[in-house]
Amino acid sequence: MRATMLYGPRDVRFEERPDPTILEPTDAIIKMTATCVCGSDLWPYRGLEPVTEPRPMGHEYCGIVEEVGSEVKLIKPGQFVVGSFVASDNTCPICRSGFQSGCVHRAFMSGAQAPLLRVPLADGTLVAIPDVPSKDLIPSLLTTSDVLGTGWFAADAANVQPGKTVVVVGDGAVGLLGVLSARQMGAGRIIAMSRNEQRQKLALEFGATDIVTERGDAGVAHIKELTDGLGADSVLECVGTQESMQQAIRSTRPGGYTSYVGVPHGVELNGEGLFFALIHLLGGPAPVRRFLPELIDLVWNRKINPGKVFDLQLPLAQVADAYRAMDERRAIKVLLWP
Ligand SMILES: [Zn+2]
Repeated sequence: MRATMLYGPRDVRFEERPDPTILEPTDAIIKMTATCVCGSDLWPYRGLEPVTEPRPMGHEYCGIVEEVGSEVKLIKPGQFVVGSFVASDNTCPICRSGFQSGCVHRAFMSGAQAPLLRVPLADGTLVAIPDVPSKDLIPSLLTTSDVLGTGWFAADAANVQPGKTVVVVGDGAVGLLGVLSARQMGAGRIIAMSRNEQRQKLALEFGATDIVTERGDAGVAHIKELTDGLGADSVLECVGTQESMQQAIRSTRPGGYTSYVGVPHGVELNGEGLFFALIHLLGGPAPVRRFLPELIDLVWNRKINPGKVFDLQLPLAQVADAYRAMDERRAIKVLLWP
């Protein structure tokens, strides 16, 4: 097969690779229906994470099960499945507490920007869909694998409640789907922080009620102004920089909740600042597996349309163009068809 490899900064190649095979009896091989490029793929692409050897790329996926190992009991060949970007057994105490991305057997997925993918711990990681979905549902189903699952976790971890005020820091695909998630959870007011007109439009479509364009001190001041000087009940940090994290913490009211799902790069927290902020903090790689059944159901019944974040769709062979479009912020998120 031909698959996506990252050789170094801005060097994405679609090249011949061996087909994946069953390595462990708990593995499955799936034939990719659709995959995509993640905002987190841009960190190594931009050289902000070292790439010491060619790296297979991609961790968002949905497709048809081709083959399963001898110990796979629940997942069957021919099923349409979606899985989390973190493989998990879904049985250990951490999984059972709902934090599958911290599973004692967790494995971060890679190699999904390819026509075939090996999924470890198939029974724990994959969720089968009742039937083969119609093509128009594929983009939305694909989002449940990571980008929607992560936005949803951000809203869940920030304790979004009906009628409450929510701030979303970051207008990437995760932030935009954090807005959608907060809307779905019944938030009263959703303030999206964005300076990009096209992304503001999508945020409003997904349920944002206010847009704040300022950043840093001015951004925090504007949030305070919109919340009677108090700060928001729930703040979702969806970027991962020092500025965005500070902005999130400082926009949260005492007693409120800050979640953080942007992969941190150079973020350092000041103990004293944190101490006096008096907030709840929860974040990390999203336990997408916890939310998959509910999110698949919402998509399947056409209650939400998160697939709208894909504003560009390309054949998988043009994966290098997909990275370029996202790097240059010409596209919010690119879907790839094998
Ligand atoms: Zn586990």
